[in-house]
Amino acid sequence: MKAAVMHGPSDIRYEDWPDPLCPPGGFRLKIEAVGLCGSDIRNLTTDSKKGAYPHIYGHEVVGQVVETDTGKYRLGEHVYVYPAAHCLKCENCRAGHHEQCTEVDEYTDHPGGFAEYISYDATRVERGATFELPEGTDPVLAVMAEPLSSTYACIENIDVQLGETVAILGSGPVGVLLAVLSKLRGAHTVIADVSGERLKLAEDFGIDHLIDSSTLDPVEAIREITGGRGADKVISANPSPSAQNQAIEMAKKSGTVVFFGGIPKGTLAQIDSNLVHYNGLWIYGHYGANSPQVEKAFQLAISDQFPAAQFVTHVLPLSEINQAIELTRSGQALKVVLKP
Ligand SMILES: [Zn+2]
Ligand SMILES: [Zn+2]
Repeated sequence: MKAAVMHGPSDIRYEDWPDPLCPPGGFRLKIEAVGLCGSDIRNLTTDSKKGAYPHIYGHEVVGQVVETDTGKYRLGEHVYVYPAAHCLKCENCRAGHHEQCTEVDEYTDHPGGFAEYISYDATRVERGATFELPEGTDPVLAVMAEPLSSTYACIENIDVQLGETVAILGSGPVGVLLAVLSKLRGAHTVIADVSGERLKLAEDFGIDHLIDSSTLDPVEAIREITGGRGADKVISANPSPSAQNQAIEMAKKSGTVVFFGGIPKGTLAQIDSNLVHYNGLWIYGHYGANSPQVEKAFQLAISDQFPAAQFVTHVLPLSEINQAIELTRSGQALKVVLKP
């Protein structure tokens, strides 16, 4: 088969690769669509595998079953596979925090979806990390289920409510997803970003306010929008420590602040902890999604309620993965989906 193989940081070659076999109790997919995620770009352009190359990344996978050894799927069915299979038995899983599973079967330990074929073993199936697409679902749009899962979990966990103001720092795909989900829950939504280019991508989603932080102080802008109160919920969805500070400054008293985006490894952020103390802020770190949230996000992604088609700004052949990375990095594309 053909695959986009990583040979080192930013060295990705579209080349021949052995076909994966169907493991006992598992199934093999012919990949129909695979999303390119921010984390893929980070992994593909840094020494993410610590020298252990070649490797195939790609974790937002939708494909058609071409070989099966499980009673769950028949040939020809279309399946979305979540990249992490939670054990559902460890202490964290039993506490409902599947995203912190200590026995997780992680996609990075297997060859990924930037290829024509991929196979999954019995563990994947048994742990409920695979979902069948209803007849007629567009695989390109079903790919959105994966990036939707962690944002869905975040908005559910902080319980965004009707009439609240939710401010999001960062206008990447994650920021826009968070805003769209908040809107679905009836909130007033604001996105701020330092890049006018990225903000442009958020324009057609009906966000109430878009703030260009390169020309406007986002903290003051939020105060103005909320009549001086500050936002009920603020989510920092970008890799900048200074945005985490702005988030704390623009939250209302007793408001909630979420650190969604990770900052560069080893960076220490300084915060004005008196603001947290005197304003009674809740700071919540968000990562991943629990198992039921993964399933609910999938159902939402393929429903008419969610504008999946609007998110996918580019569909490219897998052979053009390097161009896809550039389009995403430069902010020209919101979401690129690749087709092997
Ligand atoms: Zn992803
Ligand atoms: Zn577990």
